Amino acid sequence: MSSRLEGKVVLITGGGSGIGQATAIELAKLGAHLAITDVNLEGAHDTYRLCGGKPHYCGVMDVSSKADVELRVSEIVAGLGRLDHVFNCAGINPTSYPLTDTTDEYWDKLVNVNLKGIYLVTRATIPHITTPGGSYVNVSSICGLYPQAEQAVYCATKHGVIGFSKSMALELGLKGVRTNVVAPGYIDTPTNSGVVKGEEYVTRMEEGNSLGRLGTPEEVAGVVAFLMSEKAKYMNGSVVEVHGGLKMLES
Ligand code: NAD
Repeated sequence: MSSRLEGKVVLITGGGSGIGQATAIELAKLGAHLAITDVNLEGAHDTYRLCGGKPHYCGVMDVSSKADVELRVSEIVAGLGRLDHVFNCAGINPTSYPLTDTTDEYWDKLVNVNLKGIYLVTRATIPHITTPGGSYVNVSSICGLYPQAEQAVYCATKHGVIGFSKSMALELGLKGVRTNVVAPGYIDTPTNSGVVKGEEYVTRMEEGNSLGRLGTPEEVAGVVAFLMSEKAKYMNGSVVEVHGGLKMLES
């Protein structure tokens, strides 16, 4: 069984930064043909260049917009011929707010990107995953498994991703298409700084896992690549935690 993804066509959302970008680079090394998308076109272009340009595709896609998702998916399929795997990675990392300070706009933004985005991309791509061995990898978080004070909205979206994905696994598994979830802990990505409340909090995040450091995007990317590969062909509906050995943390 191979860990290679030679010629497999993989759609990545949120591919312009952090975990999405690191995963694109890893998958390109394994021989995949990528559709790198992000709401931030500049970031997507950077990733495209880092992956070596052709045979990959690069374009803007806002996962929270049904029209955008449907248009872009049909363009990608017309260009690359089909889809084999989807990495639903686009997301907004949390800012800590007491619930009384949380706005409806914040709720809408997080739910529309982190949760509805996965629904829209999944629904639009299902008809195009027709070859055996296809799969989805959806990004949740340790906040999809464990509660976190002052991050209730983010936790709700990431818990939702797990429920949605496990149900996808049962439904799409009947067609031979697998769905798995990666649940990262504290990963050192550009916009994770939205969570960070100064040096003291970084130290607490580092000390909050038994390896004593933040994870890197590359350390998540390797797990995503494994989940897509033939080596994980009996994994369906699994949630893989990538957090260095989490200890209990308070906000
Ligand atoms: P990041 O900000 O570096 O990357 C997220 C990407 O998503 C960005 O390029 C951004 O432009 C894109 N994006 C945002 N809204 C979008 C939209 N509407 N449509 C398309 N793209 C959009 O963040 P990251 O840390 O790499 O996070 C990637 C995923 O991992 C997110 O779902 C995040 O919640 C999750 N996650 C991150 C961590 C962490 O510690 N960094 C931990 C657990 C889960």
